Amino acid sequence: MKTSPRPSAGRPDVSLYNRLESRVRSYARAMPREFVTAEGPWMHDANGGMYLDFLSGCSTLNYGHNHPVLKDALLRYIGEDGIAHSLDLHTDAKAAFLDELDRTVLQPRGLAYKAMFTGPTGTNAVEAALKLARKVTGRQYVIAFTNGFHGMTLGALACTGNAGKRGGAGVPLSHVSHEPYDGYFGPDVNTADLLEQRLKDPSSGLDAPAAFLVETVQGEGGLNVASPEWLRQIAGLAKEQGALLIVDDIQAGCGRTGTFFSFEQAGIIPDIVTLAKSLSGMGLPFALTLFRPDLDIWEPGEHNGTFRGNCHAFVTATAALRHFWRTGSFQDDVERRSGLLGKRLGQIAARCSEPARIKGRGMMQGIDVGSGELATAITGAAFERGLIIETSGPHDEVVKILAPLTIEDAVLLRGLEILEDAFRAALRPAYGAAA
Ligand SMILES: *Cc1c(COP(=O)(O)O)cnc(C)c1O
Repeated sequence: MKTSPRPSAGRPDVSLYNRLESRVRSYARAMPREFVTAEGPWMHDANGGMYLDFLSGCSTLNYGHNHPVLKDALLRYIGEDGIAHSLDLHTDAKAAFLDELDRTVLQPRGLAYKAMFTGPTGTNAVEAALKLARKVTGRQYVIAFTNGFHGMTLGALACTGNAGKRGGAGVPLSHVSHEPYDGYFGPDVNTADLLEQRLKDPSSGLDAPAAFLVETVQGEGGLNVASPEWLRQIAGLAKEQGALLIVDDIQAGCGRTGTFFSFEQAGIIPDIVTLAKSLSGMGLPFALTLFRPDLDIWEPGEHNGTFRGNCHAFVTATAALRHFWRTGSFQDDVERRSGLLGKRLGQIAARCSEPARIKGRGMMQGIDVGSGELATAITGAAFERGLIIETSGPHDEVVKILAPLTIEDAVLLRGLEILEDAFRAALRPAYGAAA
């Protein structure tokens, strides 16, 4: 078993990218390597370097790179000339996916959702959810939350908090009210109470909402966690107001927080759920909007997209659900690993001389080090040591760990050891003084 990364020395020539690729590229700037192959938690670059991936395509590779079961299913399907593209025609690949989703995910959880295949990106699933909520309720306003992230197309971007991202829109982003997320004013203020008071006050100026759009753990927004009580209160409030509850589970879903859906622990049943990122299990583009059957008032083709039937993604998604989710053993593994992760991060945070605190839930945890500068120095030092890891939060102040859910415990611990080294290097000489 491989346990240690071996980063390549020196910087490769990236002049081709500088000359031909737009300035809009981002991750490649902090990690200027040219990657060629990957398996499990490992990525290999063109110079023989080997890296441990604690970014996992921002939670798109929950089962690691090129998982053999998924890869074999896809290779077999292609080898047999399976349909690659079919618009939204019926295909055996789609049938197998719908059947597996129903049998393995929906039925055991008592969920009766209809599945809508949108264009293949997460933002498209969010657009579909917003359109449907507005169509069903006849209302325009949507309640979104501070630090929420929902995608880059205009409807989803209007629900996204980040000013830098919003600035790219070039037109007004409207019909959304950004309300304080759980904990926004500290532990003593229940922001759901504040929202409730305003929604019930006919003179508050808040229009009746079509939907509440919420992440249970804010992936890009800094790993803020909504408590089960807060989520239940928000769900109750949506119902009372005749609004639909949309849970954006694009990053937190597919097992990232421990259960298949991130809202399971709260015991709520959203009216609409969006999934994407790890849904295909192999990094293939695939997004899905799930909703209560009685909400299905779409006209045929009213929201469509050329790539709604990504059959290769259907094949790998089906294999992933079958392999990882038919029994509870994978979930048990993830829970144990999450415990290891939390414990080790707690040790690292306690040894920091600067105030540092753990955030997040499940395999979606990180350390808030108080400044983007420090967090970026830490992730930079980690990359020099062969660990791929990113920041999150409004000021990039959270070092965010998104290791594959399938990572062996020993490799996870090795990665966290490297992370601790990076903390030590970035905080020198003060790291460890507080231990
Ligand atoms: C990544 C993400 C999106 C957008 O998905 P894309 O595939 O990038 O369009 C939406 N919501 C959440 C919570 C996300 O993490």
